[in-house]
Amino acid sequence: MTVAETPLYQRREWLSQKYVSERLSCDAIAALCGLRSHVSILYWKKRFGIPSRTLSEARGDRAPMLGRHHSAEAKEKIGRAFRGIKRGPQSAEHKRHLSEAVRGRWTGQKNPNWNNGASYAVYPREFNNELRDKIRNRDNYSCQFPGCDRRENGHKFHVHHLDENPKNNQRGNLILLCLAHHRSVHNSEVYKKKLLNKGEV
Ligand SMILES: [Zn+2]
Ligand SMILES: [Zn+2]
Repeated sequence: MTVAETPLYQRREWLSQKYVSERLSCDAIAALCGLRSHVSILYWKKRFGIPSRTLSEARGDRAPMLGRHHSAEAKEKIGRAFRGIKRGPQSAEHKRHLSEAVRGRWTGQKNPNWNNGASYAVYPREFNNELRDKIRNRDNYSCQFPGCDRRENGHKFHVHHLDENPKNNQRGNLILLCLAHHRSVHNSEVYKKKLLNKGEV
């Protein structure tokens, strides 16, 4: 995959510009990118180590008139992006997250991102190129998604955490996925299930 083909949200500068400088919410960024869910925005934000906003700042995202507002142009763009997208049904888990967040209880140790008080759970040091290369080699530089026959061709595939816990870097929790399947697994419960059940849904 060349730089030009890399989706915008997978570029650190772009994502940081939208999230940090323009203060767009992950939902808004997902909409701008034509994604149905903000999961991959969260994923890449985490991966780039871009810190999340505090809860009160995040509330501002949901109520933009509290404290700040987007430019008219940005609003128009976001509105257009949202209208263009058929929002899929939210998973029960997603709805629960949202409602808990709205009630202001999604804090502290109830938050899956809780990291002993550290501002953000980034990938630990052991999840490095050396480990990734070992997994790539173990998986024969091929996507391990059931039925996929893609092989790395000049660009490294992604090493995915099956349990989505970046701290669990045991070999058995890591698997090599092509970029398309990696994205699908993070965007879709169906793909996630398919991967975890080794193809049987
Ligand atoms: Zn992953
Ligand atoms: Zn694949």
